[in-house]
Amino acid sequence: MTRTKKQNNMCGIVGYVGRRDACPILIKGLHRLEYRGYDSAGVALVNPDGRLNVFKCKGKVSDLEHFLDGKDLGGNIGIAHTRWATHGVPNDANAHPHYSDSGNIALIHNGIIENYHDLATKYDLTDELISETDTEVAAALINKLYEGDPKEALRKAVAEIEGSFAFCVLFKDHPGEIYAVRNVSPMVATYCNDGLSLIHISEPTRHLRI
Ligand code: GLU
Repeated sequence: MTRTKKQNNMCGIVGYVGRRDACPILIKGLHRLEYRGYDSAGVALVNPDGRLNVFKCKGKVSDLEHFLDGKDLGGNIGIAHTRWATHGVPNDANAHPHYSDSGNIALIHNGIIENYHDLATKYDLTDELISETDTEVAAALINKLYEGDPKEALRKAVAEIEGSFAFCVLFKDHPGEIYAVRNVSPMVATYCNDGLSLIHISEPTRHLRI
């Protein structure tokens, strides 16, 4: 399925790192973004043992909350997403976050990667992909380019990607850090009382480390 995204129709990205449990904050953030319209939702968390847990499903944020019942939701860092499908039907597999087959990287994306097919071919990523989305190609590409430095991998990946994107990325082997980069699609970050971060991002390809 390919659907053209309506101008100004955007789904939601939330990221949190700080002293509090991330999951309730992320879910609250997703609820606040529901007005934008979406078809699925998901969350990725790094738990205190360093495990990267990804939970996602088709439907409403309330469906995700039911799905999360009984799961390992520990961790004070995470990213969450509401998806408005452009590439791939609304289903569980196509929901974000997407993760690399290495298990090291989880990524959420707002926007459209125009050259995802070419990138999958050029970098021989097709066999790794389990969804129909343009977004998963970005996760696989960053993983392919990753040699231990997240910023370097993101710089290289962004140089290859054509289209609009706001990405938030977790690298399991860099716990305590969220990486973000954008082009065209807006993304805003703010500081909160408990010391977390956030930075207003106003320039394309500017990264931040939270
Ligand atoms: N193009 C991506 C997808 O279809 C992201 C859509 C969005 O912005 O939510 O999954």
